[in-house]
Amino acid sequence: MDLSYSDEQIMLRDSAERFVDANCGADNLRKMRASEEGFSRDYWKQMAELGWLALPFTEDQGGLDGTAVDTNVLMEAFGRGLLLEPYLTTVVMGGGALKAAGGADDLIGQIIEGSLLLAVAYAEPQARFDLFDVATTARKDGNGWVIDGHKAVVLHGDSADKIIVSARTSGDRRDRSGISLFIIDRGASGLERRAYPTVDGSRAAELFLNSVQVGPDALLGEEDQGLAILEKVSDNAITALCAEAVGAMKVLLDTTVEYTKTREQFGQPIAKFQVLRHRMADMMMEYEQAKSMALVAALKVDSEDPIERRKAVSGAKVQIGKSGRFVGQQAVQLHGGMGMTDELSVGHYFKRLTMIDILFGNVDHHLKQFSAAA
Ligand SMILES: Cc1cc2nc3c(=O)[nH]c(=O)nc-3n(C[C@H](O)[C@H](O)[C@H](O)COP(=O)(O)OP(=O)(O)OC[C@H]3O[C@@H](n4cnc5c(N)ncnc54)[C@H](O)[C@@H]3O)c2cc1C
Repeated sequence: MDLSYSDEQIMLRDSAERFVDANCGADNLRKMRASEEGFSRDYWKQMAELGWLALPFTEDQGGLDGTAVDTNVLMEAFGRGLLLEPYLTTVVMGGGALKAAGGADDLIGQIIEGSLLLAVAYAEPQARFDLFDVATTARKDGNGWVIDGHKAVVLHGDSADKIIVSARTSGDRRDRSGISLFIIDRGASGLERRAYPTVDGSRAAELFLNSVQVGPDALLGEEDQGLAILEKVSDNAITALCAEAVGAMKVLLDTTVEYTKTREQFGQPIAKFQVLRHRMADMMMEYEQAKSMALVAALKVDSEDPIERRKAVSGAKVQIGKSGRFVGQQAVQLHGGMGMTDELSVGHYFKRLTMIDILFGNVDHHLKQFSAAA
């Protein structure tokens, strides 16, 4: 199998790397952390002009018909630059949900032109990593619905123009059936948002839905059939996150190798000590394994075979979680006390890797998913 990138993918990678090298990184993160929304609307506009927001959508929808591998090419560059803009939440998750539900091409058009930001509120405090554990309810009210509940850690939930919310339309809290998806405006009456910064310098919000009334057109896809869409969104998000993590690990590896060549101890650069070379060789191996698994996930995430898809996606998430932790810990350790400081970029990449491990299920969760599918 030829696993090399096509000419188009190389162009996409080069333009994304140029963009993040010029605009992103730890300095930008420190600046954006202090801003109101935590990211740059100007960068978002540029990302729209570069066509990146159109990547996964079909040509009929005004998109570029890109594959999961194409998305990974972008996400790897974003990981290298600690990009803060809501690509994952708006394009991969929100856009992915609209695409899977069908019939929302006008909203997809708005995503592509950069005028619509989306968030997906799938998690609840009691649910751990189970997408089907949904206590939020939606009950019929005339033609429309009334939604009540609490959604936790909604990524970019503070800046999103619309939020896709999972709610139970039938069954009990942990039933796999009976979950529906609704799209709610940010200004909906009864919707309360409590925003906060996350450990990696990004933003999230707790959402409280107090009898939020929506019309019949708020329902995305079929009533009671929302879980299949959520699972697809989750698998695509995991795949994209794996690629982002690979980009972050590469920075940690390169930075660490570079640093050990300059830091002198016992009269010579510490990179000369064999024991440290072994550590960096181990970091390299972890990075390579993570990169390969991220590619496998991208190649299989759209597979019709649910077992093949589960094994590829969960397998990649396990490897990324383990490798990210190893590479991050070694990078901090080899940088010594400096590795712990806010001034150095190392800690920021490690925090992002830590967050990626937790998102959509950590190592333990996906090891169980993998075992169940194997
Ligand atoms: C990359 C790096 C960054 C660090 N940054 C910090 C920091 O910011 N702040 C901080 O407090 N500490 C820092 N350290 C020091 C580290 O914390 C100490 O190495 C550790 O606290 C001491 O551990 P140790 O004595 O158990 O073992 P080791 O560090 O392995 O040393 C054991 C002893 O062996 C001898 N020894 C080992 N190698 C040689 C050699 N090549 N030539 C001569 N004698 C040798 C020395 O006498 C040494 O005391 C850093 C270390 C490294 C490798």
